[in-house]
Amino acid sequence: KTATTKTLTLREVVLTFGNVRAIDGLDLDVKPGQIHGLIGPNGSGKTTTLNVISGYYAAKGGTITLGDDALPPGMPELRAGKGIARTFQTPRVIGEASVLENVMVGGTIEGEATFAEALLSLPRHHRDERKLTAQARAMLGVVGLEALADVRADRLQHSELRFIEIARALMLQPDFLLLDEPAAGLSSDEITRLGALIKAISRRGTGVLLVEHHADLIFDICDQVTVLNLGKILAAGTPAEIRVHKEVVSAYLGG
Ligand code: ADP
Repeated sequence: KTATTKTLTLREVVLTFGNVRAIDGLDLDVKPGQIHGLIGPNGSGKTTTLNVISGYYAAKGGTITLGDDALPPGMPELRAGKGIARTFQTPRVIGEASVLENVMVGGTIEGEATFAEALLSLPRHHRDERKLTAQARAMLGVVGLEALADVRADRLQHSELRFIEIARALMLQPDFLLLDEPAAGLSSDEITRLGALIKAISRRGTGVLLVEHHADLIFDICDQVTVLNLGKILAAGTPAEIRVHKEVVSAYLGG
């Protein structure tokens, strides 16, 4: 598969919950092969941004485009088809199924609602099970957890589940990967490993949007950083620019 040359672009995107403007006119560019960090205090709209891009929420205003293609609001299954994959803040696995099966689901999943169905129907209904199995093993290799393929998912540690989620998302061979706090609950060694993994993924041409609280990880690996506050951009720039940005340091980095 050749790497995409398209940019994922948000322009003036708005999403409201009742009176709350969770995202309030957001502009964002995620370029292929780049890691774009999205940071900000709790409630600033980071997860909502991922949900809008991946189609779980329908934007109330603005546009989301992939190259010249406008992505219609909502419809997560369409996003998967367009090469946009994501992980969740809380890893989602079927505990009774093997790690391998949990990863295989990523090759068939077409939206959140069908997750359990996709898993349950895997061996019987998927046309090309052997290929899917081989691909899932390969993706487990990419995240360094090949040895756990046949273990029940509910035996895994939280940190391992975080990497399993990424392996599952990679099954789509995504052009864009949206990661929601992948470092939460990881040790510093694991965060180092995660950072190397995300970099390797981006080097293959995938554009990564990384929502993360660990400022060190953000500044280490991102090409661009956007800082949100109350659904609006407080600052945007390179890690070097953001690190010394006055308002960011006082409002968020605690300087
Ligand atoms: P962050 O990920 O930066 O912590 P969120 O995107 O989760 O922020 O939330 C942004 C704002 O939208 C907050 O004010 C939050 O309370 C509100 N919000 C998020 N999800 C919902 C929801 N499902 N229903 C109502 N309000 C929500």
